Amino acid sequence: MISDIATQISEITKELPSDSRLIAVSKFHPEEAIIEAYNAGQRLFGENHVQEMTEKYEHLPKDIEWHFLGHLQSNKIKYIVPYVAMIHSIDSYELLVEINKQAVKAGRIINCLLQLHIAKEMTKFGFSFDECRSMLDAGEWRKLSNIHLSGVMGMATNTNDTVQVAFEFQSLKVFFNELKSKYFTNDNSFKEISMGMTHDYSIALQNGSTLVRIGTKIFGERDYSKSK
Ligand SMILES: *Cc1c(COP(=O)(O)O)cnc(C)c1O
Repeated sequence: MISDIATQISEITKELPSDSRLIAVSKFHPEEAIIEAYNAGQRLFGENHVQEMTEKYEHLPKDIEWHFLGHLQSNKIKYIVPYVAMIHSIDSYELLVEINKQAVKAGRIINCLLQLHIAKEMTKFGFSFDECRSMLDAGEWRKLSNIHLSGVMGMATNTNDTVQVAFEFQSLKVFFNELKSKYFTNDNSFKEISMGMTHDYSIALQNGSTLVRIGTKIFGERDYSKSK
């Protein structure tokens, strides 16, 4: 029998354009659920807690690509740097410096996405467009030998107003194009626009998302009472 998890993954995968990929957001879900998704062919997984992701990494197949999505404290960077595939949540230059330090020690180049604040809510993390421009204009980031900037990430306002959500995703796409032409003209690997979750991923794909981050639709509701 085909599991619900496998069915959801195959449905979402059918909707993806050829240059977009699915990250299955497995935070708060057990390793068995990840294995089900893995057996259905899924290889990219997203988590937002360092300890939880690291334990899963240690137990699960090594060809899984682990994407870190959450707020990252500097004292915990060292735990994920040896294996993480991409960090989506860069919201300051200082964080890049700290990641670079650990990346040099680990002998790895870390793919990072600049997180932009595109939602109306005050609570969401991320650079404003202007803060991000100033950081890139300052140019110091170019000296961070073990950081690779791969693109941008954003979260839309949590609303049923699809016009608003589409507007926010579109603004991130336009900003990505601006960065691409101003700072990354010769870098074809600055190419990711990480946007779209369970409730808005179709709108994100219509607006150029290359990485959708989907949890609930694949794995069901998260049980936060099991939080460590
Ligand atoms: C939890 C989370 C998701 C997945 O959310 P769903 O609504 O369950 O699809 C996506 N992105 C980030 C940054 C998250 O923290």
